Amino acid sequence: MGQPVSGRAPTRTHRHSINPPGLPWALPVITVESSTDGPRAAICANLHGDECIGIGVVHALVESLPSALLRGSVRLYPSLNPEGLRAGARRMPGESVDLNRAFPGDARGSSADRAAHAVWHDLLGFGPELVLDLHADSSASIPYAILDRLITARDPERQRRLTRLERLARASGLTLVWDYPDALYRRFHLDRSLAGALLNHGRIEAFTLELGPRRLIAPDAVEAGVDAVLGVLGSIGLMASAGTEHPSRVAGGPWRRDSGPTPRKAGVLRPHHSPGTLLEPGQLLASIHGLDGGLRERLVVPTRSLVLSLSEQAWIAPGASVTTLAVPDSP
Ligand SMILES: [Zn+2]
Repeated sequence: MGQPVSGRAPTRTHRHSINPPGLPWALPVITVESSTDGPRAAICANLHGDECIGIGVVHALVESLPSALLRGSVRLYPSLNPEGLRAGARRMPGESVDLNRAFPGDARGSSADRAAHAVWHDLLGFGPELVLDLHADSSASIPYAILDRLITARDPERQRRLTRLERLARASGLTLVWDYPDALYRRFHLDRSLAGALLNHGRIEAFTLELGPRRLIAPDAVEAGVDAVLGVLGSIGLMASAGTEHPSRVAGGPWRRDSGPTPRKAGVLRPHHSPGTLLEPGQLLASIHGLDGGLRERLVVPTRSLVLSLSEQAWIAPGASVTTLAVPDSP
């Protein structure tokens, strides 16, 4: 039982595991439940095996929620991809499909399909009104929230749900970025990501937090992630968190995610600005050099752009991604 604090109803912590059929591992699941009825939320982490910050965030929540929860319940998934974690790899070992494009999954499909199916059923069985999926972009990044496109609903339901989604994400105190425009969103199958599938096919409000360095559970990134999650959980009344604004937050927008200019030539990537910088159209983002230092190419932003993250690779191949930007989300 959690420690009751001055009149607060006691909490219980339940643990179970998910065993996807035919897979030799189990996923731990922790549910912290108040004896007072209220909203249900779920926090998922480490879906991409090399993105580890969310594990630290979930572990901190396992410790703090029993004495902080006022009502309702929170289900915590520390790792949706423990084999990817062990291998230090984004995907499940031996799997060609990105687990974050496999939802809602298939009980008779590939390992990623079966894992996604098992997670989907555990999540929907819990019946959350809100799910947060914790990812990590780069050691050179600001933390930000990605909001999916809602391509399966029409107005006015669509507008009502998007307004609610934006209000929930704003409570994270992070910079908000809508995902790629609808056509690219469909082409990249982003409605089969966990948050995208929950929003589009599960009719559950869900969004993704990108929380900084991927492989290292860095204390400051964990702290920022915990603050962001508590702000969102507080906004639906699960606890008395007022929410804090992260110092990197850039207001305005609406912004949308953009992969920025890509190089035509290989070479050494030399970024000219740090994440969190706003660039005006025509401003130099980065340059590509030969090993002798000679300039090979200049990468300029065509529109007003906020630098969200930079590649951790110093040597860049032609066509490779060097950045994630936020650009104005003009209709
Ligand atoms: Zn990820």
